[in-house]
Amino acid sequence: MKTINIIDSKNHVGETVQIGAWVANKRSSGKIAFLQLRDGSAFFQGVLVKNEVGEELFDVAKNLSQETSVLVTGEIREDTRSKFGYEIGITGLEVIGESQNYPITPKEHGTDFLMDHRHLWLRSSKQHAVMQVRNELIRATYEFFNDRDFIKIDPPILTSSAPEGTTELFETDYFGDPAYLSQTGQLYLEAAAMAFGKVFSFGPTFRAEKSKTRRHLTEFWMMEPEMAFVHQDESLEIQEQYVAFMIENVLENCAYALDVLERDTEILKKYTQLPFPRISYDEAVELLQQNGFDDITWGDDFGSPHETFIANHFEKPVFILNYPKSMSPFYMKPHPTRDDVVIRADLIAPEGYGEIIGGSERAVGFDYLLEQIEKDGLDRKDYEWYLDLQKYGAVPHSGFGLGLERTVTWVCGIEHIREASPFPRLLHRIYP
Ligand code: ATP
Ligand code: MG
Ligand code: MG
Ligand code: MG
Repeated sequence: MKTINIIDSKNHVGETVQIGAWVANKRSSGKIAFLQLRDGSAFFQGVLVKNEVGEELFDVAKNLSQETSVLVTGEIREDTRSKFGYEIGITGLEVIGESQNYPITPKEHGTDFLMDHRHLWLRSSKQHAVMQVRNELIRATYEFFNDRDFIKIDPPILTSSAPEGTTELFETDYFGDPAYLSQTGQLYLEAAAMAFGKVFSFGPTFRAEKSKTRRHLTEFWMMEPEMAFVHQDESLEIQEQYVAFMIENVLENCAYALDVLERDTEILKKYTQLPFPRISYDEAVELLQQNGFDDITWGDDFGSPHETFIANHFEKPVFILNYPKSMSPFYMKPHPTRDDVVIRADLIAPEGYGEIIGGSERAVGFDYLLEQIEKDGLDRKDYEWYLDLQKYGAVPHSGFGLGLERTVTWVCGIEHIREASPFPRLLHRIYP
């Protein structure tokens, strides 16, 4: 007999198959029992009829507790009443692993309780849907950049310097010297782009975010492309194409998950229409001031209410261009005609999801960069290697970073970024 995954049911209608699964839920009357089965690929219903399977097996099924693991056999049939569309008529059932007093019941639970039981909470249909979307975003990311001949480069996670400032750094001991968990692969990727032209990294980054927000994890995955001979305009086109491509693929391949999440797919479709609007930082500040935000002046970083207002105003992801130099990292290219702004762009998602991408054209010029490093109070000897890039055939180049969990949160339309990571790390949360 064939062993299949629930998701493959459509290819086995009328066949008798075997499935290994967990009992997510159960209903029974005197004559018929319905098991909601979960095998990781999907959820569907198993049906046992007492007259068909006999009293003994029916009693076993009737007494199954939540999350008991089972091996069931039976015939796959269409089930037009369910969203999934198929079910299994169970004729054989073997208990594999008992489950007693499973703590997460179909009742409501508080967030702290669920977070303490994250290792079990992951089994719920909603969390399953979120992880399916996350997986699709990762898959689409590799497809997009591989199709464009980018080389994947893995920058180090242990680093000796801190280009983004030291306040959000995790420090560790490296044989007696301080080392830091990487906040971004940025500078290493620039070196890689000078070696390989178009590169991307996709890996974990770490920031000791000390405030509680719905958008910040202390460990998150970032997608960072870096491209030699590419100016900011071209980089923005690649960014919007990439975002639209991810959303198209989620719409195409995760319809069931989006349905479980009750995500409005018409809204998502709008986000695949290019180009995304572009406004300057100056215009964004003006727009906010004209709309009653008196807590923002030129030179301030946007807070969450500001970003939310701007992107909702356009009902699409929006690029904000040319931020003040005073609030931007040292490696961003200065504007050619204005010395107060840099060639930077943030992509802000609508619906209150905030910044999805931060990117810029990178500064070129040994003297300029050395001056910025010294101005920022960074130790020159940590950056000699980076300055070397300026000595041996420096070229214009651009890059950006997209936060995976931010994107998952947005595409899924969920409230909080903690559900976008399988085992989220947050302020005061490193268990489980
Ligand atoms: P924010 O302004 O939201 O704090 P940032 O400007 O500090 O973000 P960047 O350094 O530009 O972030 O990093 C690039 C991307 O990484 C961001 O656009 C966002 O998608 C994601 N990101 C940044 N910090 C976090 C975090 N703490 N948790 C999850 N994702 C993050
Ligand atoms: Mg930040
Ligand atoms: Mg930001
Ligand atoms: Mg940013």
